[in-house]
Amino acid sequence: MPDTIPLQDATVYGPIPSRRLGWSLGINILPLSHKVCSSNCVYCQYGWTLPGGSSERLKRAPQLLEEIAAAFQRCVEERTPVDCITLAGNGEPTLHPDLEELVAGIKRLRDAHFPRAAVGILSDATQLDRPHVRAALSLLDARYMKFDAADEATWRRINQPLGRTDFQAMVAALRALPDIVLQSLFMQGAYDNTGEPHVRAWVEAVGSIRPRSVQVYTVDRGTAAPGITEVPRPTLQAIADRLTAATGIPAEVYE
Ligand code: SF4
Repeated sequence: MPDTIPLQDATVYGPIPSRRLGWSLGINILPLSHKVCSSNCVYCQYGWTLPGGSSERLKRAPQLLEEIAAAFQRCVEERTPVDCITLAGNGEPTLHPDLEELVAGIKRLRDAHFPRAAVGILSDATQLDRPHVRAALSLLDARYMKFDAADEATWRRINQPLGRTDFQAMVAALRALPDIVLQSLFMQGAYDNTGEPHVRAWVEAVGSIRPRSVQVYTVDRGTAAPGITEVPRPTLQAIADRLTAATGIPAEVYE
């Protein structure tokens, strides 16, 4: 498996061809020099979330929106294909204090430059208890929320949340959030969430959240922790099919 990847080195990056999203233009509202995340997932493609970070200051909304406007303009001039715009980047985007202003501004810029592109977010779902985060998420066209673990112990082992959120509160907040897509990463080797008891509990937990759909996938790059291996496609497909059979929720496997 290839190594972990470097952090994104710009506010706007890509577009990245994604089987899940088409040509996805990434927006990184976090620093460029270090990862800022509320999780420390063992499989993170950027490596570990390190304490302390660096002295780089968070850019506030006006500066970020100026950079995003310039990048969108360049894409239009260069006829770059853009199917969707996704807030992701160097960590957890919901940690940015100006999230609501940024989402509203990005949507305005989207309307002006790529009116058919959906604006979405990739999130670890740990900040959903914050009213301004829920307000910002409600403005988006798509909400992709991480859900790899069915119980507190597995969540702490795999996703290693760094804040005060507890698992049951996060699940309750996911249930209350309308129209979400869950993204569930399965892995084997040094960490394994594909065992029968865990998959059974995951099906039950996803069934209680009732997302619009679920994206099931596995690692395809280097990981923060050593010894994590990808899950064979037939196993992923069996997990997705089992969820749909038990709950009626559509689930797709992505590689
Ligand atoms: S939530 Fe995403 S960015 Fe943060 S540690 Fe996990 S995989 Fe990495």
